Amino acid sequence: MDNYFTPRTCCPVCGSTKNEVLHKHRFAEADDDTVKGYDVSLCPVCGLVFANNIPAQSEFDHYYEQFNKYQDLELYSWHPIHQQVFDWVTKNVHKDAIIVDIGCGPGYVLRKLKQNGYKHLIGLDTSETNCRRMESEGITTLCGSVFNVRSDELKNADVVLCTGVLEHIVDLKGLMSFIGNAVSQNGRLLLQVPTLQNGLGGKFPFENFSTEHINYFSPATLLRLLEREGFEPVECAVDEMTIFSIFQWRHDDRIRDYIADSENAIEKMLKKVDPLIGTAKPVYVYGGGTLCRYLLASTRFARLNIRAIIDRNITLNGRHIAGIPVILPEQLIENLTIIICSYFSSSAIERYIRDEIKLKCDIISLI
Ligand SMILES: [Zn+2]
Repeated sequence: MDNYFTPRTCCPVCGSTKNEVLHKHRFAEADDDTVKGYDVSLCPVCGLVFANNIPAQSEFDHYYEQFNKYQDLELYSWHPIHQQVFDWVTKNVHKDAIIVDIGCGPGYVLRKLKQNGYKHLIGLDTSETNCRRMESEGITTLCGSVFNVRSDELKNADVVLCTGVLEHIVDLKGLMSFIGNAVSQNGRLLLQVPTLQNGLGGKFPFENFSTEHINYFSPATLLRLLEREGFEPVECAVDEMTIFSIFQWRHDDRIRDYIADSENAIEKMLKKVDPLIGTAKPVYVYGGGTLCRYLLASTRFARLNIRAIIDRNITLNGRHIAGIPVILPEQLIENLTIIICSYFSSSAIERYIRDEIKLKCDIISLI
């Protein structure tokens, strides 16, 4: 598995060493100490395509500190990918939010957000030139790579932006751990990575197999990486250049809330029929679906004196639920109170009883 000082020899997401080499890519040596080549490999376990047999993250960090080209405002100007990030933030994030941009470069997005009233902006970048420039414009910066700045300074970010970064990182797990420390419990993570769309190889051959791009994500493999780290997707859009995605923490307490809310709602329903349970008066129940079956199996609803369950589902007719016969509406013979037990059709059933079969009985609708 990836470790800061360990060269990459396996899948950086799942650690598999049984990877299929799709292509061997080599570069002529240059003085800037960059990677000399790699094996573009497919992981048979998690599906990631990545550059295998490359130097450790520590060496890439050294390279980005020494030869960072993302500090030239003229060379790398405002780009549609910046616009996409800016548009999402201004549409979805309030101006008091803490926004952290990991690998912010010269701060294109942060500077424009500042001009638009965003107050709490933090940029992280390896370039001192970039950091100095942003500080002079009133933007807080952390200078260094995610592997050597203190992540505890970045707790509780409402939004973490990480655009054009994941494809450069040897130690993906280390990066994800840093991001995980930064994103608050209800925060959002915006990721943007290049995509390999059909036709791009014919137009710009091997452009993505650069000396810097060493991970080649699809929406599915990006999702798999994030899910392993405890995130779930909120949005994902793919265009001819990028995968643009928003993630949040996967909160298992949502299902707990759902169960608690459901239990409270069931108790409210039962309160409507409690007076009938007390008197043992015979009733009909209209609806023999999942709600009825749950109530009969798990609650005091079973103590009602139910003469029959009415259901228009012909396949239930003549059967029994909890020993109670199921009949069709036209088989109603007694003018008893009817308890409607349906998630989505209560009003339609009530109209049917009043207007079609014209019963004047009491009706209790559970929902
Ligand atoms: Zn893998």
